[in-house]
Amino acid sequence: MTCMDLQGLRVLVTAASRGIGFEVAWRLARMGADIVISSRSRESLRDAVERALRLGVRLDAHPCDLRRREDLEGLAEYLAETGGVDGLVFNAGNVEREPAEILETRYNDWVEASLLHLVAPAYLTRLLLPHMLEKGFGRIVYLSSVSVVEPMSQLVLADTSRAGLLQLSRIVARKYGGRGVLSNVVLLGSFDTPGARRTLGRLAEKRGTSLEELWEREVLDRIPVGTTGDFGGLACLVALMLSRSNVFLNGAVVAYDGGMLRSVLA
Ligand code: NAD
Repeated sequence: MTCMDLQGLRVLVTAASRGIGFEVAWRLARMGADIVISSRSRESLRDAVERALRLGVRLDAHPCDLRRREDLEGLAEYLAETGGVDGLVFNAGNVEREPAEILETRYNDWVEASLLHLVAPAYLTRLLLPHMLEKGFGRIVYLSSVSVVEPMSQLVLADTSRAGLLQLSRIVARKYGGRGVLSNVVLLGSFDTPGARRTLGRLAEKRGTSLEELWEREVLDRIPVGTTGDFGGLACLVALMLSRSNVFLNGAVVAYDGGMLRSVLA
């Protein structure tokens, strides 16, 4: 028996033209999954498909701005018309204004954060679930953040919005686990990505310090293993959750954070 049987499973990875989404997507493809990536622009998707080709894997791609209802519906239609969907790895981009303390936020920031981190995963799940239920097979992985469990005030926009993913995943897991659809959450620790560098860079500017200094103090010093996250290990965890061999890991919330969380509850 193989622990990670992904062969031929069609899996959508959202917000995957770079950063965590891309790094997980191409590795899942290398493990045998049939991956569709989505992201806002056609150009960034084209770049991502080319980068993946240079890494030796072929990715399918379809544009979708997670904030737009018609894009979510278009993506679900595309999947239905081109071979269906067995798995969803929901990843989102960053809220434009982040990092921001609550007093720095505006009404539209809350709308954006909610669309990105709550409406998009919930509605996309709603759109893809019927296909999974019809097949009697589906695997959903929501990528969230450790800061949902141990909040950071400057991430208030994203984290209050995506806290609901824990509820969403557990509801899907309990309601549809018996019909072959399993759902889990990964709480991400710190990963070195363009997005993380942008957020930390802005924070450094606000605090009048350097990115390097802040990276050392705010990122590395908080991680017991002393490094940022490895994408290979993260992809293996996601693969296990997506795998045909997984029939029992359902409704779980797993932190992949090098031991950063102090709480024993996640
Ligand atoms: P990134 O900026 O490097 O990559 C984000 C990806 O999302 C890009 O492909 C971008 O094109 C896409 N994207 C942005 N807005 C989008 C939209 N509206 N619709 C569709 N796609 C969109 O960011 P990252 O560091 O890889 O982070 C990805 C997610 O993981 C974010 O939600 C972030 O908050 C979360 N996260 C990251 C870390 C970290 O340390 N990097 C830690 C915890 C959680």
